[in-house]
Amino acid sequence: MLKIQEYRPQPFIDFTKEENVQAYRAALKKVRAELVGKHYPLVIDGERVDTAEKLTSLNPCDTSEVVGTTAKATTQDAERALQGAWRAFDSWKKWDMDARARILLKASAILKARRLEACALMSIEVGKNYAEADVEVAEAIDFLEYYARSAMKYAGFGAAETTWFEGEENGLMFMPVGVGVSISPWNFPCAIFLGMLAAPIVAGNCVIAKPAEDSGLIAGMMVDILLEAGLPAGVLQFLPGVGKEVGEYLTTHAQTRFITFTGSRAVGLHINEVAAKTQPGQKWIKKVILELGGKDGLIVDETADLDVAVTAAVQGAFGFNGQKCSAMSRLIVVDSVYDAVVGGFVERTKALKVGTGEENANITAVVNQMSFDKIKSYLELAPSEGKVLLGGQATGEANGKQGYYVQPTIVGDVKRGARLAQEEIFGPVVSVIRAQDWQDALDIANSTEYGLTGGVCSRDRARLEQARHEFEAGNLYFNRKITGAIVGVQPFGGYNMSGTDSKAGGPDYLANFMQLKTVTERW
Ligand code: NDP
Repeated sequence: MLKIQEYRPQPFIDFTKEENVQAYRAALKKVRAELVGKHYPLVIDGERVDTAEKLTSLNPCDTSEVVGTTAKATTQDAERALQGAWRAFDSWKKWDMDARARILLKASAILKARRLEACALMSIEVGKNYAEADVEVAEAIDFLEYYARSAMKYAGFGAAETTWFEGEENGLMFMPVGVGVSISPWNFPCAIFLGMLAAPIVAGNCVIAKPAEDSGLIAGMMVDILLEAGLPAGVLQFLPGVGKEVGEYLTTHAQTRFITFTGSRAVGLHINEVAAKTQPGQKWIKKVILELGGKDGLIVDETADLDVAVTAAVQGAFGFNGQKCSAMSRLIVVDSVYDAVVGGFVERTKALKVGTGEENANITAVVNQMSFDKIKSYLELAPSEGKVLLGGQATGEANGKQGYYVQPTIVGDVKRGARLAQEEIFGPVVSVIRAQDWQDALDIANSTEYGLTGGVCSRDRARLEQARHEFEAGNLYFNRKITGAIVGVQPFGGYNMSGTDSKAGGPDYLANFMQLKTVTERW
């Protein structure tokens, strides 16, 4: 009997140590020599397939640099990928669960060995600084390890106990559902991309992976690692392409069994709608797992340790330039401590350095022109919706480099219903909202349609207990930043308009990709 080793999250690299900084710089050099400029074709049925057109990935911190290219799949390629995946499913579904899990563990070992390379590629392709890149690669390794070890628990009949019944033998089987499509965002191009593949694949499904256009290279590197780990041909089909074209084709297709999507609310709701429509010849109800946006708030009340609160605000707001679904974009402060908290928040934010991911700046460029333009439009709106206390400019330049640079921006006295307080901006822009008292603060926190992350800085036990029950967020944090969920430790996912609360990195996540069959034999 196989003994399942206990899952342990990866420790993070300490970049206050000079030797770790030097190792990162060496990895940047290696990646520049070996990976920058690379082209990733599609992978269909284990074969590399190129396309007439290409997608180009730019360095957001220096837009004169092309980081690399990927193929650009057509709907014909998507059709081939789907049919090939169904053929591969015939044998993959029969593999033992623990044999499938060992492929993830092998992939984890390869990624551990290439950890700094993956980090360095993200610094160049999407502008992550060292710590942001490192926590993401650690999360990617954690997903592989956690889902592998979780899967082993489902093997055979042992997974779900049924109640004893005289004269019969009853058993509950967990079975894979079939072929699905995984559509992922650019902001966690390594961890989310990999996690959204690892879970359905280890459960015995075959998956077509459609990465975001801005992060095709890091996705390509992750696919290489899974194939090197021994994933059979057709189990993972790699299909970089345009969401509106191949994404749409696959989500509406009669033979797509499930869709796992992480991205914006608008696209997620659209997918939910088209997937619900039954196509001719379709013989199942598609499973749809959605992880969408947020407008995440942190409450600070008059009992809070204000230093802890300010640290939580700065870390939660500006990590990876606020480009996290979990980022703190609303700071909700009780009136009596408003000036002290906001003053501290502005002062601490002023110290953040803007520059490139490769320079390890605190704030780097946002991902692309569309994001830059969108954030700029909110900066233009800001003076009419509040007081701009810091920043306010989309400069498009830092330290002589042209890129999608936006100043870290804090807007004070924003009204709870204002657009700045309600709409996901997905950049380094925080709206500060003044609350009369604790109850008013909690009402403000719950006044959006989203429900992803949230937090409370308070030393009042009764209030924390009230928030535990009433604060509408899939991930709620007390007296710390509201970002940085760790796989297995803080299962992650939102509800309300933030998603289907499927809790990635949680004990039930694999069940999203399985169906149960009860078999009864009468003696
Ligand atoms: P988008 O919704 O713009 O894109 C996500 C993916 O969907 C991309 O691969 C995109 O392809 C694809 N896509 C676009 N249109 C369609 C379509 N019609 N059919 C199928 N697929 C389509 O999100 P972003 O990449 O900009 O990511 C940022 C968003 O993701 C934010 O809202 C953020 O909050 C959310 N997010 C949520 C997380 C969570 O766990 N809840 C975690 C991380 C991010 P293409 O690139 O070709 O357009």
